[in-house]
Amino acid sequence: MAPGKPQIIQKQKRDESSKLDVIIVGAGLGGLGAAISILLAGHNVHILESAPEIGEIGAGIQCLPNSTRVLISWGLEEHFSQHATSPRLCNMIGWKGNKISDMDFHEYEKECGTPFWDFHRANLHMGLLERAVELGAKLTVKTRVVDVEYVDDAQNNATSAIAVCTDGTRYKADLVVGADGINSKCREILLGHEDPPLLTGDLAYRLLLNTEDMMKDPELRGFVEDPQVNYWIGPDAHAVNYVLRGGKLFNMVLLVPDDMPAGANTLAGNVEEMRALYKDWDPRIPKLLALCQSVAKWRLMIRPGLDPTWSHESAAYTILGDAAHATLPYLASGAGMSLEDGHVLGLCLAKIKNKSTAEKKRALAVYERCRRERTERVVSRGNRQQYLYHVHDGPEQKDRDRMLRAFGSFNGK
Ligand code: FAD
Repeated sequence: MAPGKPQIIQKQKRDESSKLDVIIVGAGLGGLGAAISILLAGHNVHILESAPEIGEIGAGIQCLPNSTRVLISWGLEEHFSQHATSPRLCNMIGWKGNKISDMDFHEYEKECGTPFWDFHRANLHMGLLERAVELGAKLTVKTRVVDVEYVDDAQNNATSAIAVCTDGTRYKADLVVGADGINSKCREILLGHEDPPLLTGDLAYRLLLNTEDMMKDPELRGFVEDPQVNYWIGPDAHAVNYVLRGGKLFNMVLLVPDDMPAGANTLAGNVEEMRALYKDWDPRIPKLLALCQSVAKWRLMIRPGLDPTWSHESAAYTILGDAAHATLPYLASGAGMSLEDGHVLGLCLAKIKNKSTAEKKRALAVYERCRRERTERVVSRGNRQQYLYHVHDGPEQKDRDRMLRAFGSFNGK
């Protein structure tokens, strides 16, 4: 059965005896999403962010129907539909320019009940921030959390956690949620030891083009006039592009073997080096890259799983998003999973009847049960996608193309 349109969640009224004070560490997409969902559940939220101001580094982001369902249920359809582009097709193209398959996104949206949206990250980020603040979130920037301590109030059968910051400030809450991204300190605190993310062997060049330049070229203007998501896939590399902001900007991500020096995870990239990597590809790619002025280089890392659990035994501390399950961006799902985590956590906290440890434990156990299997599956599918996208020409590539044609032929019927 088609899931239909999502219901918009109304803010729950609750009395003080069951209202949790929640601290969220990190105002990224996951942290802000969790703030909205937890506020809608009727609790108080204070977000601690290490950056001096809220802004999103990076360029485009694709939101698949599972994550736009979450955004719409938070009352953000009207706001985000002004900022999003809704691409018509997703094309799989061989590295020399041969089209392998396509998927009709608009048909697929009818099945899902919610759209595919492509955003500039800043628009997604600011929309979430505004909604969180409108619902009552308190935000403190320039505040880095370096430790979490636990307090057991046995008399009241309750626990709390204290987020300790670099400057020694201590924030006490009934629940601390670590949403501090792939290089998570919160994950390390939960585990009690260092646990760096794993290298994947790939990096991403990320760039934005001004579409005015593209419109002057008859071959490139089609990319702007008819918004589609394009994946060129080839030996050891692939390239993804789509338009943003109603066709004003063109987002490109180019995925290649990692040659970054140890320790540096983001750097300014060298445009000439990037162009050289794609000089023999479909001529439209070198043509697009000729318009590029500057590029950023991101090392791609993952976090396949988190054992034994996502939450501390006190039930006063949990984590979400990339801190728990960072994935390769090859299914365009990392941010979507962070938003879903926050959504589910909020729904679980909406059920609690008092602030007791037992109630929080139940809520956190359901949260993890709903999220662990799915997120681990997406991380492992992302790894599989790395292999599939980067296969060299030959029998395996032919099998891969056959499979893509079978998958891409889905037309919503
Ligand atoms: P983050 O966005 O990293 O936010 C963490 C926040 O915590 C930051 O604001 C940081 O400043 C703050 N912080 C860190 N440490 C502390 C601390 N100790 N104290 C306080 N604050 C702290 N996903 C998609 O769904 N679709 C896509 O199309 C897509 N494309 C991608 C393309 C690329 C090239 C890459 C690299 C990723 C892509 N992703 C995509 C994945 C997506 O960007 C991430 O999964 C998502 O941003 C994770 O959100 P998060 O909130 O968990 O972490």
